[in-house]
Amino acid sequence: MTAEPADLPSAHDGDEQLRAMLDATPAMVSIKDAEGRYLYVNRGFSETMGLPFDQVVGRTMDAVYPLDTVSRLLRAERQVMASGDDTVFEHRLPAADGGDHIFLSLKFPLRDRDGVIRSVGTISTDVTEVRQVTAALADSEDRFRQLAETIDEVFVLIGIDPLTVLYVNPALERLLGAAGAQFRADPRSFVDRLHPDDRYPFMRSVVGAFDRGQPEMLELRLLQPDGEVRWMRCRLTPARTGVDAPRRWVATVKDVTDQKHAELALRSALAEAERASGAKSEFLSRVSHELRTPLNAILGFGQLLELDELEPVHEESVQHILRAGRHLLGLIDEILEISRIESGQLRLSLEPVDLAESMGEALDMVRPLAARRSIELIGRPRPGSWGWVRADNQRLKQVLLNLLSNAVKYNRDGGSVRVDVLPSATGRLRASVTDTGIGIPAVDLERIFLPFDRLMADQSGEEGTGLGLTLTKGLLEAMGGAIGVRSDEGEGSEFWIDLAGEVAPGDPQPPAEAGAADRPPATPTTHTVLYVEDNVSNVHLVERLLDRRPGVVLISTMQGSLALDLAAEHQPDLVLLDLGLPDVSGEEVLRRLRAEPATAAIPVVILSADATARQVARLTQMGALDYLTKPLDLQRFYRVVDGVLSLT
Ligand code: ADP
Repeated sequence: MTAEPADLPSAHDGDEQLRAMLDATPAMVSIKDAEGRYLYVNRGFSETMGLPFDQVVGRTMDAVYPLDTVSRLLRAERQVMASGDDTVFEHRLPAADGGDHIFLSLKFPLRDRDGVIRSVGTISTDVTEVRQVTAALADSEDRFRQLAETIDEVFVLIGIDPLTVLYVNPALERLLGAAGAQFRADPRSFVDRLHPDDRYPFMRSVVGAFDRGQPEMLELRLLQPDGEVRWMRCRLTPARTGVDAPRRWVATVKDVTDQKHAELALRSALAEAERASGAKSEFLSRVSHELRTPLNAILGFGQLLELDELEPVHEESVQHILRAGRHLLGLIDEILEISRIESGQLRLSLEPVDLAESMGEALDMVRPLAARRSIELIGRPRPGSWGWVRADNQRLKQVLLNLLSNAVKYNRDGGSVRVDVLPSATGRLRASVTDTGIGIPAVDLERIFLPFDRLMADQSGEEGTGLGLTLTKGLLEAMGGAIGVRSDEGEGSEFWIDLAGEVAPGDPQPPAEAGAADRPPATPTTHTVLYVEDNVSNVHLVERLLDRRPGVVLISTMQGSLALDLAAEHQPDLVLLDLGLPDVSGEEVLRRLRAEPATAAIPVVILSADATARQVARLTQMGALDYLTKPLDLQRFYRVVDGVLSLT
């Protein structure tokens, strides 16, 4: 490219300032004669097209542009020459940077002193960027409009000061019907369509939002012309505007009636489910009570008979009665427990538990069972040697005991049961129980955790309910743990449990107090026991039980109200209290005994078939000293009664 621009044609010779000005503009400026030859081009032209002046000046357009462009430009120039009028048009030109640029060109006639058109001047400005921005803007506006016009939500752009609707999408008409036009004219008319209770809160929220400049969300009821109420969710958001632009807000309104109805239906279904769950637990508590009451007589009298000298044939019958009774009791307890887990009502107290200690205690409990069949128990762990897990102490023992007793039950005589521990997945501990028993066929492995599925165990003569593993799995899962099994048919099985590991608590546990069983039995001094119970066979049972405690006098009553008088009058050393009484509830009797100074100090032990943990906790909290569940465990009954009487 030559450094010096071409001179202006003779008419402008010497006009240095004009030339300098034309060279300073980035626009392309050129002058052509009547034959279409370049007489002048400025620096902008030369640089934009990437051509030195001498390759342009004196030549025609075909030295500069492609053919199709040349013919278009020539047409325009001829028209200017012929008509003497200016013309403005937009066209694309390939520029020196290789890109296609859009130019806005002005062509105008240049006349000599006599007014004859001698040449044509052209000023072309590169508007590529402007056009791109405009196109992008139009595109974005187009997309916004398409979106705004198809969505179901009402979208309003509001100007405040004064309050005007700047834009609102067609969803408005779908929401307000004919009243849409009224809203466009005066947005305040919206308030009239609201439920009367929502009008003031709505206006307060809107004014508050405008004042604070903060977004606001509110739910409103809109009245339809036919009186129907529809729920709207409105969101007010300040719109982004330029620095000094007037304030604008975007309001969106969405019809959420269906959602609202679904929410209400869900809420009432939840309330119904809660009621049903309450009713279910009430039902379970009643069933448990009803089944335990007759069982109490069966097991209680059975155990009493067992204590007597019996003919061998009767002895065997008693054992049958007791076995069946205990089986039934086990079933009731397990079903209750499983339904508590299922209804989420199982109360757990999760704390760090010494896994080895728990396993040790469970092992001790199955030891007699194992010894009877010469089954060796391998690996009694030292307390603390297996680490600590997060669990409910009692429940964990129940789980381990169930696995161990299965390992013994389904073992062969002279076999073995081994217990182990190993770290499992991240931060968990795994305890396993491996037996050398009959094993479980691979196809049945899934089934053993299902309720009442005993595989072939019924035929084997082993006692069981088929609920143990269901309960074990439920308990473990409620404690955040897991259970698994591996088995070889005919070789044995390995059951393992996983629980979250815990840090050992710093303080060692204080040594356990001597249990009630270790205390001496009641002394022969006279003691009075008041038994409040409306079931005759239960009264007889307790009479017979206390016959074995010389020096204990039993007074009994079926009436709760009478019990209060008897307690005040006889000052018994112990009150045994049933809860389901015909007149006043046992709970009320306890409350009144506690409230009355004359009876407040008398120990009360509840004797009830309602074994739910909630009930036990409530009565204990009300001041009951202990809670014995029916069917009575005679050892525990004697332990508690002896304990209380030797204290008094
Ligand atoms: P139950 O022992 O009362 O029948 P469980 O739920 O504890 O009920 O066990 C379900 C079934 O799984 C058992 O009846 C038995 O067939 C099988 N089973 C459980 N543990 C073992 C084991 N260690 N070895 C072989 N079979 C087992």
